[in-house]
Amino acid sequence: MAQTSDNPLAIEIQKAEGVYLYAENKTYIDCISGISVSNLGHSNPVINEALKNQIDKHLHLMVYGEMIQSTQVQLAEKLAAYLPSNLQSVYFVNSGSEAIEGAMKLAKRYTGRSRFVAQEYAYHGSTHGALSLMSEPYFSHSFAPLLPGIDFLRQNSRSKINNLITRETAAVFIEPIMGEKGYLPCTIPYLQAIRKRCDETGALLIFDEIQTGYGRTGSLFAFQDLEVVPDVLVLAKGFGGGLPLGAFISSNKIMEVLTDNPVLGHITTFGGHPLSCAASLAALNYLHDESVMATIPEKENLFRNLLQHPKIKRIDGKGLMLALVFEDTQFCRKVIDACVESGLLIDWFLYAENRIRLSPPLIISKEQIEIVSGIIIENIQKQCNLEQ
Ligand code: PMP
Repeated sequence: MAQTSDNPLAIEIQKAEGVYLYAENKTYIDCISGISVSNLGHSNPVINEALKNQIDKHLHLMVYGEMIQSTQVQLAEKLAAYLPSNLQSVYFVNSGSEAIEGAMKLAKRYTGRSRFVAQEYAYHGSTHGALSLMSEPYFSHSFAPLLPGIDFLRQNSRSKINNLITRETAAVFIEPIMGEKGYLPCTIPYLQAIRKRCDETGALLIFDEIQTGYGRTGSLFAFQDLEVVPDVLVLAKGFGGGLPLGAFISSNKIMEVLTDNPVLGHITTFGGHPLSCAASLAALNYLHDESVMATIPEKENLFRNLLQHPKIKRIDGKGLMLALVFEDTQFCRKVIDACVESGLLIDWFLYAENRIRLSPPLIISKEQIEIVSGIIIENIQKQCNLEQ
C-alpha cells in the first residue's frame, strides 16, 4: 500500500462498535471519528440495517444522474426539507474534494468568472482545484501550477473583504468553523459582511460544511446558527454515514447550468452510490429520531468542565468539534502520543501544532466523556511530572 507519511498510526483494527475500536490486544476509544466521519458511532445498527436492505435491492446501476434511484431521491428530498428555499438541488459525488471541485466548476459556469476567494489556512481537499484554495505553499507549491486568481481572506477580519471580493470573483469559499487551523469558528459579523459583499458583486458564497455538517456542532448544519445562508452548501465526511459520499447543494436556477453547454457539465460514475445514499439517509433519520443534536450542548459543556488543567490554555470549537489549546507544541505532541498509548485516539491539526483535536462520535455517552477526559488530564499531569 502506498503511504501518505513516514509515521502512520499503523494500528490494526479488527472490529469497531460505538466509540470503540478493537485491536488484537487493545481497545481504543475513538475521539477522532475517522476525522469527523463516524458521527453515529461504528457499526451503528440502524445504518447497518439500511445497508443490508439496499444490498438486497441493487448496487451501482448507471453513472450519476441517468437512472431514477429511489434511495438517492429520498435522500435529496429529505435534505431539501431541512434546507432553505435556495438550497433545493443536490448533486451527489464521492468525496469532499470532488464536491469542492463541483462547486468551483458550478460557480465558474454560473457567473462566467474565474477568480476565487478562500480563507488563509483553509483546507478544502487534495485535488488540483481544492489545493488551489489552500494558502500554505508548503502543501501546494510542489504541485504548481495550480489555478490562478485565488485570493485569501484572514478569518474574522473584515478589512480585505471589499478589496478581494469583486465583480471578477466567481465564489468565496468559507469553512464556518475552520478545521485544520484548529476548530476556529467564524464570527457572525464577518460572515454577514462577506454575504453582503457577495450580494453586491454577484459572487457565490459557498460554505464548506464537510466537517461541520450532519450534527457535529449541535445543529444539522453549522450555518443554521449563523444568520447567514450560503448560495452553495458542500457536504461530505459524516454526511455519508461512514460510506464515501459528498454533495454540493444549490438552487435549481444555479444548478441548471451544469446540464447544458456543455451537457454533462460535471460527470461522476459512482457519485451518490446507492449504498452511500442509504447510509446517509439512515444517518439523517437517526439524527432526527434520536434527537442527537439536542444532546450535543450538554456533552460539549461536560468536556469543557472536565478538561481543566493549567496546561490547557483554552478550548476552541463548538459542539463535538473541540480543540484543546496548549502553549507548547512538543508538550502537546507528547500528550497525544501518550493518550494513544493509553487507548484513547485523539489527533493533531495540519496548521495548529499546539492543539489537540477532539471529534468523537456524537453518540458518545456522558460516562464515556468522563473516561476520555480523565485519560487526557492524567496524561497531561504525567507529562508535567516527567518534565519536572
Ligand atoms: N473540506 C474540509 C473542511 C475537510 O475537512 C476535508 C477533509 N479533511 C475536505 C474538504 C476534503 O474532503 P475529502 O478528504 O473527502 O476529499
